Amino acid sequence: MRILFLLPLLFCSITAHAQQWAIAIHGGAGEAEWEHMDAATASAYHASLARALAAGSAVLARHGSSLDAVEASIEVLEDDPLFNAGRGSAFAADGTNEMDASLMNGATLEAGSVASVHFTRHPIALARAVMEHTPYVMMVGDGADAFSRTQRLEQQPPSFFFTEMRWQEFAGVMRGSGRPVPPRPAGVPPAPAHGGMAMLAGPRIFAHRYGTVGAVARDADGHLAAATSTGGMQGKLPGRVGDSPIIGAGTYASDHACAVSGTGVGEYFIRLTLARQVCTLVEQGNTPQQAADQMIHHELPALKGGEGGVIVLAKSGLPVWSNNTLGIFHAQQVQGAAPEVWVR
Ligand code: ASP
Repeated sequence: MRILFLLPLLFCSITAHAQQWAIAIHGGAGEAEWEHMDAATASAYHASLARALAAGSAVLARHGSSLDAVEASIEVLEDDPLFNAGRGSAFAADGTNEMDASLMNGATLEAGSVASVHFTRHPIALARAVMEHTPYVMMVGDGADAFSRTQRLEQQPPSFFFTEMRWQEFAGVMRGSGRPVPPRPAGVPPAPAHGGMAMLAGPRIFAHRYGTVGAVARDADGHLAAATSTGGMQGKLPGRVGDSPIIGAGTYASDHACAVSGTGVGEYFIRLTLARQVCTLVEQGNTPQQAADQMIHHELPALKGGEGGVIVLAKSGLPVWSNNTLGIFHAQQVQGAAPEVWVR
């Protein structure tokens, strides 16, 4: 009798575990920033990641969808100038911001993405609008900017996305590669005295090579989603598109396998269809950690110059990450446990 009474409880706890919500985010992988990071910088990144994670966790805790959760976290990171996405984006060689973003719904395999957009405050919201309000998966450039306006998404001028620290980093990349530094964007205040470097008291983000942001989530119904947003590589030629908005390269989610968001040199992720490959390896019976490590520690470096990392979340279990750089900014939370943030 007592056993019969306990059975429903046992069943509930098993199903609750199977559908335990979870979220992980990243803020880019890299080398130099890890080598030289001081305590003030580390704590600034820590606070920013914790804030973005909390936004996504809050959605999941009130039984929101994984799609809403990844979008909520990414929007916080897009607004945060510490990261190379939305405000604080890297600059193309002509001094403009060309932003890329994508997201994918693991339950339906619906996906949306945008590349080379200029004015949308939250490029991830535009990617979602492409998914939900067009028959397309991907829109680019002026057409995507025009579509954004029809969706009444918040528009901002170049000066909104501009940050002095990202510009100084960009100027260094241009000089270092023997190219001229273009004029500062319209509406931006003139360069401060001492070439701007004097303003770099506080967080040292000028050596942050891959500051792309990403999120993967599993909601209480067990559905997966993934999202990625970036300003791309500093000093890229105008029109260059990396992996972040390419479904299957920088972003992928399928309820049958896992959700993945990547960061690193996009060209290698595209050539390996890296995010999709991680999920294929999971479908073939590998654990998410084995799948991520296979791609990041074997396939990626096998292509000379292949650098980066991923966060991965499957139908059950904890989020995992893998990177072949010195570090990857990331954070995660699982239902019933405290948030965890890794900056060093
Ligand atoms: N993957 C991005 C790109 O190639 C860069 C990054 O991860 O920061 O555009």
